[in-house]
Amino acid sequence: MNNLTQSEWLSKLPLLQEVMEKKEVLWKNPLIEPTTAGLAKTSLSQEDVTDARQRLERFAPYLAKVFPDTAVNDGIIESTLTPIPKMKNVLERDFDINIPGQLLLKQDNALPISGSIKARGGIYEVLKHAETLAMKHQLLTDTYDYRQFAESKFQQLFAKHKIAVGSTGNLGLSIGIMSAQLGFNVTVHMSADAKQWKKDLLRSKGVHVVEYKDDYSKAVEEGRRQADADPSCHFIDDENSTDLFMGYAVAGERVAAQLKEQHIVVDQDHPLFVYLPCGVGGGPGGVAFGLKLVFGDHVHCLFAEPTHSPCMMIGMMTGLHDKISVADFSLDNKTVADGLAVGTASAFVGKTMEPFLAGCYTVKDRTLFKLLKELADSENIWLEPSALAGMAGPVQVIMSNIPSADSSKATHLVWATGGNMVPEEEMQSYYQQGEN
Ligand SMILES: *Cc1c(COP(=O)(O)O)cnc(C)c1O
Repeated sequence: MNNLTQSEWLSKLPLLQEVMEKKEVLWKNPLIEPTTAGLAKTSLSQEDVTDARQRLERFAPYLAKVFPDTAVNDGIIESTLTPIPKMKNVLERDFDINIPGQLLLKQDNALPISGSIKARGGIYEVLKHAETLAMKHQLLTDTYDYRQFAESKFQQLFAKHKIAVGSTGNLGLSIGIMSAQLGFNVTVHMSADAKQWKKDLLRSKGVHVVEYKDDYSKAVEEGRRQADADPSCHFIDDENSTDLFMGYAVAGERVAAQLKEQHIVVDQDHPLFVYLPCGVGGGPGGVAFGLKLVFGDHVHCLFAEPTHSPCMMIGMMTGLHDKISVADFSLDNKTVADGLAVGTASAFVGKTMEPFLAGCYTVKDRTLFKLLKELADSENIWLEPSALAGMAGPVQVIMSNIPSADSSKATHLVWATGGNMVPEEEMQSYYQQGEN
């Protein structure tokens, strides 16, 4: 722990005491800066996001062809932005507070192909890799109609190449489904948290699934080690990938367009608060970066983590990022929020977020179940537990007196990161736990 003992950290950062006690807490990031100053500190830029957006546009006709449920949106993988006023009433009643602003839900739970936020970054990185290989082997003819990617000569090329990834479940689903569709030889290294139905589904699509008894970090480490030994293998590195990050970041411009369509203003007087469930950090980090590029200082992004797995909060608070883990504060990384069950955060994301992130907060599993049931009852929207971590956000920022969070001109946007792939019985059992 970088020379400091646990008790030294606790006296330096008293909030860590409450984190250790698994209380629901909010940490404000003291390193946040004006967006322009933050952008000067990173090598990532608008050009990278534009490049990613354009690549997704090139592939859209292909996706519309091979995944018919993307055809309604012409092969662009995007979700709706839904006002949830009934749920807002429920939150106000439950927590006995007033939320004067508007409450919206970004429904990545319903994204096509893999039913979670991973359909952004994960699919993007696989497509980018496929494009790179196709160009290298001169398979793309000069008409550049990307529907060609469905042809057998592409499949034959990709069959000679491997893709590997380590995952708690959802990233594996998105990478596995996309890679198998293109014809790659794909292996998913699954942590112990990964649900059986996700492994079964991947195997049914011809994906190799390797199971681990350890948590996420171990699955990634082992996957990376095996892939490094094989030059034909592309390892999708959830802890360090700028491609994944950029795939997620494209969401910023897309949300901006949706807000505009709904006549929702974001400016100096109308702040936007966005609540993003965080595991290793790539998904929420990428989305937050994309939003900062569009809205600058008018958007306030917060990451939400389980009380048993607050790896990003601890990493950013101590400034040690991946050199410290939740275990260093006696936390077990055991949570029903399997998508967030990560003990050590990405250092790449944590460092990149230092000037941009408003803060992090934690949520108990019990709260996740309760919110799951309440959202189902009030709005008939069904999310997986991880995705409910964002729903506690408006309550947290208002109770913590974050400036202008209680303004009637504020918009609160909860990022619903997953849900649609969860089997019915599994969802019913979550709902039951919300009832108890
Ligand atoms: C992966 C995931 C997240 C968090 O994304 P990270 O990139 O791991 O931080 C949040 N919610 C769900 C449902 C996920 O699958």
